Amino acid sequence: MATVQRPAEDLVDPFGRVIKDLRISITDRCNFRCTYCMPEEGMRWLPRADVMTFEEIERLARVFVERYGVESIRLTGGEPTVRAHLPVLVAKLAALRTADGPVDLAMTTNGATMRLVAGTLREAGLRRVNISLDTLDRVKFAEMTRRDELANVLDGIAAAQEAGFDPVKINAVIERGVNDDEIVDLATFGREQGVEVRFIEFMPLDADGHWVNAQVVGQDEIVAAINDVYPVEQMPARGAAPADRFRYLDGGGTVGVIPTVTKPFCGDCDRVRLTAEGDFRTCLFATSEVTLLEVLRSGGSDDDVAAAIEAAVATKWAGHRINQVNFVRPGKSMSQIGG
Ligand code: SAM
Repeated sequence: MATVQRPAEDLVDPFGRVIKDLRISITDRCNFRCTYCMPEEGMRWLPRADVMTFEEIERLARVFVERYGVESIRLTGGEPTVRAHLPVLVAKLAALRTADGPVDLAMTTNGATMRLVAGTLREAGLRRVNISLDTLDRVKFAEMTRRDELANVLDGIAAAQEAGFDPVKINAVIERGVNDDEIVDLATFGREQGVEVRFIEFMPLDADGHWVNAQVVGQDEIVAAINDVYPVEQMPARGAAPADRFRYLDGGGTVGVIPTVTKPFCGDCDRVRLTAEGDFRTCLFATSEVTLLEVLRSGGSDDDVAAAIEAAVATKWAGHRINQVNFVRPGKSMSQIGG
């Protein structure tokens, strides 16, 4: 097997944060229409020719992994499983190695087709999956996602566990007045199924632009609701991971909260993102991007790609400004960026 040289350099932003995690959106399309993410109709899809090919994704990812020692890649979207021949891409990316070993390859999915694809994706080298599940109520699920797919998602979670993904985590976006009455039910589900539920604070990235702060259920409220029923203690500092994690005192496992709005964790952020059309973003909430795919398609070398990456990382913000008066929503919504 080819040896990978130790990276020539870390990718470090102006605040000393070393970039280690790359989120790649592989499609802007989705088979759900979650109300907090997409409109029911009228989403404008990227023309297919504008979406990165597998070869282009692999080439860009290779620069991040081999040149800069990026350790983990998460595939997202849109819904990554709607991309045809996904296992082919997974195999290409799973083969990437830093000097310390294979890249840690994960995917975020709505889980609706996991029963069909879990085994193939696992064999192709995907290690971990996060499956989105915001409610256990079939009617509410159909309202929130605009698809009557709860049974398939629950079965998809089981399929992911059976296929050997470790860990399987559940992402639950909590919106006040919509599903905040289900925090404990979702926690119970996680305990019973042996999966870590990660509650996500609702972020101002919905395509409809309806987000208001009053709809955000903050970490303290979420943890208090759980703690009333299942006492928890906070686990040691999260490092660069986005979730604050809590351990059930009765040994029932762990639960997490991603408190982007009420307790921003930007100071430890080691993440960068590629959108499906190959735009490079150094913050989920960034208002500008660098068109990395254009560098490739205009015949640029890996050095040219690296120069563009470094120039962009040199502009990474200290943090998002959601709670400040000068917050400006990005021009793209969550499914267009890749959550
Ligand atoms: N389709 C996949 C899925 O459903 O997980 C991957 C893409 S989705 C955009 C990634 C994650 O972003 C999901 O867990 C979703 O719930 C979350 N998300 C979408 N819009 C959000 C918002 N406005 N605030 C917080 N999380 C959001």
